[in-house]
Amino acid sequence: MNRKFQEKELVLATHNFGKIEEFKHLFGEVNFQITDIGQYSWIPPIENGMQFWENSLIKAREATKLTGLVSLADDSGLCVNILNDAPGIFSADWAIMNDGSRDFNFATNKLVKKIEETNLAGPFNAYFICSLILYWPDNYFEKFEGKIHGEIIWPGKGEKGHGYDPVFLPNGYTETFGQMDRWKKNKISHRGLAMDNLLNACF
Ligand code: IMP
Repeated sequence: MNRKFQEKELVLATHNFGKIEEFKHLFGEVNFQITDIGQYSWIPPIENGMQFWENSLIKAREATKLTGLVSLADDSGLCVNILNDAPGIFSADWAIMNDGSRDFNFATNKLVKKIEETNLAGPFNAYFICSLILYWPDNYFEKFEGKIHGEIIWPGKGEKGHGYDPVFLPNGYTETFGQMDRWKKNKISHRGLAMDNLLNACF
């Protein structure tokens, strides 16, 4: 039996604007307040887990410790078969430039270069994965996952979305995530699927 969320406020344990937008859209109309962790002096913890869910657990635990609220954390990433599932849990790190800032054109170029270096022919199968943790102040948590399979194509297409969206073409679709409207992406995306599971179980 899953624990139900019955509180008046939920904090989102992420600074990633793209994720925050998607979460708010996925929750839709709710009778509780959704708070951004940006309102607190949140220093994101070191994500030293070996798996996506371990990293979302680290973020959720720290967010609840800081705010005293139930928190929702996401750890997600892109896994490319031909690269042995890289960038995987390091998806965000691949965007870090020499000056410490993040740039996803840079990350995407790195991804394409590494695929090209294999000298293998496509299609270059990949999947996005999202692990969600809903964490309560008494240290109880619920864990959910969503995955979407597709392929990496380049040059990237579309200016919507975030991160690696322009180079990810989901199986069965003719538009990349970067070309899809938010509602369309959310219906099929790793985050959308994980959220479906969470909403059905806990809300
Ligand atoms: P996290 O904040 O450590 O979970 O970083 C996940 C990283 O994976 C993001 O910064 C993006 O690079 C990538 N990522 C996760 N979900 C998506 C998505 O829906 N579209 C594009 N990139 C994503």
